Amino acid sequence: MASAPFKQILIANRGEIALRVICACKDLGIPTVAVFSEADRDSLPVRFADKAICIGPPKSARSYLDIPSIISAAEIARVDAIHPGYGFLSENERFAEVCRVSGIKFIGPTPEIIAAMGIKERARAIMKEHGVPILPGSAGVLSGPEEGLEMAEKIGYPVILKASAGGGGRGMRIVNRAEDLPGLLTQAQQEAGASFSSADVYLEKYIGAPRHIEFQILADEHGNVEILGERDCSIQRRHQKLLEESPSPALRPEVRTRVMAKLREAIRAIGYTNAGTVEFLMDEQGDLYFIEVNARIQVEHPVTEAVTGTDLVKAQIRIAAGERLPDILGGPVEFRGHAIECRINAENPETFAPSPGRITGLNLPGGVGIRVDTHAYQEGVIPPYYDSLVAKLIAHGRDRAEAIQRMKRALDLFVVEGIHTSIPLHKRILNDPDFVAGHFDTNFIKRWHA
Ligand code: ADP
Repeated sequence: MASAPFKQILIANRGEIALRVICACKDLGIPTVAVFSEADRDSLPVRFADKAICIGPPKSARSYLDIPSIISAAEIARVDAIHPGYGFLSENERFAEVCRVSGIKFIGPTPEIIAAMGIKERARAIMKEHGVPILPGSAGVLSGPEEGLEMAEKIGYPVILKASAGGGGRGMRIVNRAEDLPGLLTQAQQEAGASFSSADVYLEKYIGAPRHIEFQILADEHGNVEILGERDCSIQRRHQKLLEESPSPALRPEVRTRVMAKLREAIRAIGYTNAGTVEFLMDEQGDLYFIEVNARIQVEHPVTEAVTGTDLVKAQIRIAAGERLPDILGGPVEFRGHAIECRINAENPETFAPSPGRITGLNLPGGVGIRVDTHAYQEGVIPPYYDSLVAKLIAHGRDRAEAIQRMKRALDLFVVEGIHTSIPLHKRILNDPDFVAGHFDTNFIKRWHA
């Protein structure tokens, strides 16, 4: 690369992902601008960015979600690109559009693609059109209980009602019997309306014991598409991921090859650009069914980085600068070993209740095969206003057994005092014989409590 792809990048996020983007920019020689709320004044991204601008009070709606404040900061600092991280404005098509009209490159897909992928039943239709397998379900938004009942009768119970604009596992209801459908539909619509921009709900077949498998996509602005393997994110609680790994211990090679070929075609055909994740559920037969596209970098991206040796955030920035994927990747993607990520959250490991507060003692593990992505530091505060992610602990080994062993060692050396964390929960997962054998689905944690 002759010169830096951008003159200056603003990071419209906070926490570990803001720091992660700063690291990628440092590697590329690009100066950074952090924006922060009053609650994050003493945070590491503010300390390590080249510039930092306060954009408002703690509440996200008036800071990290406030488009005019962020654009003003970008204009004052004269940046030529914005990285949105994940969450907050990362999949907000209006933000991507405002960036475009302001002459600032949004590091992510176009507003049109974000909009299309954000409506889940629309993304379903698009994938189906291109031959990617989807679960049987409604062709679009349910018009009412009659259509839902008719559809469910055809597919067979159980079915799941899902918010079109859904995210974070909200607005979903499992329906086991016809008589429950009308009431649950009303509940799902109300929850969707309260949490998202729309009360629209669609229906699909419910898989009782699925595995969550997702593929990492990179696509440049010249029609080149690469799929950097899959991640297995089946270890969840309340439909939220806790532990992710790559490759999946359960995906059959022929299914992987078949689905990846269809997916590559679909991604190219829809003109998707930059990084993205395509999520699937695997049924008991081992077949994959598309559920949704996340048009952004994801929390669990480091496991893919570990097994492919590719810096995905750097790739996002270079793609946004118009570079070609073959130049960015420097050859065919090769897969090495096995990687696992544990999400260390500030929460009670039994009740999962958030546990914000001051970190009074901290020891971060290291050593061979270990990576820690975190914004935590001794005496630092985890504020109550945002998500509870404290750190991501990633272990890489030659095979799954070695990755598990290294993860266990790192969890033993990981000390966080002053707040509760999910470290004890992860130790329990790593020692579970079913987990070690690779036998688990999304109900793994739920089964402990049963
Ligand atoms: P969100 O965008 O809210 O995260 P997803 O569509 O990605 O919603 O689903 C989140 C999780 O919910 C999945 O990983 C899975 O555990 C569960 N889920 C979603 N759809 C189904 C389904 N059809 N059958 C069984 N579980 C499902």
